[in-house]
This record gives sequence, C-alpha cells and structure tokens, in this order.
Amino acid sequence: MDLEKKRVFVDMDNVLVDFQSGLDQISEEIKKEYDGRLDEIPGLFGLMKPLPGAIEAMHQLQERYDLFILSTAPWKNPSAWSDKVKWVTKYLDDVFHKRMIITHRKDLCMGDYLIDDRGKNGTSEFKGEWIQFGADRFPDWKSVLEYLL
Ligand SMILES: [Mg+2]
Repeated sequence: MDLEKKRVFVDMDNVLVDFQSGLDQISEEIKKEYDGRLDEIPGLFGLMKPLPGAIEAMHQLQERYDLFILSTAPWKNPSAWSDKVKWVTKYLDDVFHKRMIITHRKDLCMGDYLIDDRGKNGTSEFKGEWIQFGADRFPDWKSVLEYLL
C-alpha cells in the first residue's frame, strides 16, 4: 500500500473500455436474443477494445497516484466478471495487477478520486471527488490528465 500517493479509482466500461467495440463483434441474431439486456451476452466483455488514450493515461497516472480498477459487472452475466479480469490482465496487468475491485457499491471504497462515466452503483455517493468521464468538463483522457497531472 502506498500511503504517500493519493488514491484514484478507475471505472472500466466507457472509461477504459470501449463498450460499443464489443457489441460491434456480436451477430444481429444474438443481439436480438439479448435485446434490452445486451450486457448479459456471454463473452461480450472480453471482446471490447481500449478507449483511445486510456492505456497511455494509466501509465502516466501510475507515476503519481495509487491506482485501482473500480468496476461493476452485471449480476446475471457471470462471464463478465471473469472477462473483466482477463481484459485487465491482457491490456494493463503492469498497472492493475491484483488492483481490481468489482462491486455494486462503489461508495464503500475509500479514495481521493473516482473516474467514472455514470453516477450508478454508488458513484454519485462516492466520498472523494467524482471525475465524470465523458461529461463536458472531462470529454476524454487528455482533459483528465490535464486536471490530475
Ligand atoms: Mg462505466
């Protein structure tokens, strides 16, 4: 544990991960079958690509901050839980090795910043500062880095 650095939690879907890039690889037939609950498609989360600038941003933030993944996986899609670990291992194991929290109560985690695109699953009740990724103030990783570095 690094007590000198401030702690930053980072969400996955639409923050590190391009959710749509996974859907783009799913057949229309499967999409129709899972209509209204697309996040329950088995294996979907393993297909997703990183968002532009996300990987580089984590390497830069790692220098200055104590970084953790803070993500939620759909309760009815157990493969999403394992897919998310596999995704982190594939793309960012050097930053987030054994630094991953999956929960529906992000407000229970103590830290200084939470970078998240939505206020759900406890994000809007987070005790530190919520950096809303994708909002006008923080439209991309460049703007987040300018703020935090
Ligand atoms: Mg998200």
